[in-house]
Amino acid sequence: MTNQLAPVLSVVSPCYNEADGLDEFIRQVSAVLDSLNLTKDGDGGWEIVLVNDGSHDASLAIASAHADRDCRIRVVSFSRNFGHEAASTAGLRYARGDAVVLMDADLQDPPAVIPEMLAKWRDGYQIVYGVRSKRQEESVLKKATSWLFYRLLRKLADIDIPKDTGDFRLLDRRVVDAFNALPERNRFVRGLLCWTGFKATGVEFLRAPRFAGKSNYNYFKLIKLAIDSIASFSTAPLKIATWLGLGVAIAAILWIAVVLWQYFFWPGYRPAGFTFLYISILLLGGVQISLIGIIGEYLARTYEEVQRRPIYIVDQLANFDDTPAIGGPNGSLLPASPDPSARR
Ligand code: UDP
Ligand code: MG
Repeated sequence: MTNQLAPVLSVVSPCYNEADGLDEFIRQVSAVLDSLNLTKDGDGGWEIVLVNDGSHDASLAIASAHADRDCRIRVVSFSRNFGHEAASTAGLRYARGDAVVLMDADLQDPPAVIPEMLAKWRDGYQIVYGVRSKRQEESVLKKATSWLFYRLLRKLADIDIPKDTGDFRLLDRRVVDAFNALPERNRFVRGLLCWTGFKATGVEFLRAPRFAGKSNYNYFKLIKLAIDSIASFSTAPLKIATWLGLGVAIAAILWIAVVLWQYFFWPGYRPAGFTFLYISILLLGGVQISLIGIIGEYLARTYEEVQRRPIYIVDQLANFDDTPAIGGPNGSLLPASPDPSARR
């Protein structure tokens, strides 16, 4: 049984091994959504789109049980773990709401903020992002690195990503459609959403500690996300290569001139020992290798985009028989043009 009307509000949540907290998450979010009385005036109310990102625990079973009980709870289940960004991408393609809230399934993004976001949306804002007012129970290192990351991104990226925001945000249908039409495989969701433009505002919230389980992001994944996001939004690292290379070359030419001058005009001049040679070889070697690495970053992305593989593969769907996803069930890179009639 499915809901024929497109809902006013969709909540999209990627879930990876969230079995311990998923019941509570669905209970709390449903309660908040019910309290909004969205079913008035004959419109379609709400839906929760849970994207199971290849969990190894009972997440899918729990989500499916809720879907059997309530047709407003819909499940997209991947064939394996494709990552948070792929899961968010899929959720946004399957969501049918006039407004879509993207939030984590671990209750770190408090459902109580949804009504505030909705109010801002009704005031005419098309993106309402959650601004983390305080980071609780996170290590000093994580706080410091995320502080640095957000500021670096603002400096390097050609777009302005609001600081201290995560993926928790409300999006108007127009933003979701614009996002769904983006063809790239490497999806740094919050960056791409800002890139779309539109009228945005923020709502402050306290980021809660996880309800259950532990973070799926380790430092390795965070560094990968940081590199991905900088490389997809900025060509500044490529330009560093040009300037650094030019600077080193000019310095070397000047140095040669100095040495020649010393040789011809300084009586009794002896060239320096090998120490300087070692240091300069190491320095230049390091610079060259890191610059090759930067070029490799961009080359790898070009390669990935050229491969045109789907972003994710869907294995199972629950409560979706009336809604074909934009871009086909498997997130093909050639998205079908969004068909508004499919949503109603
Ligand atoms: N997640 C996912 N796929 C992954 C890793 C995480 O769908 O490969 C989901 C996870 O279930 C959660 C959200 O993405 O709903 C954020 O993940 P997590 O809480 O681990 O990140 P953190 O809050 O620590 O940044
Ligand atoms: Mg979390």
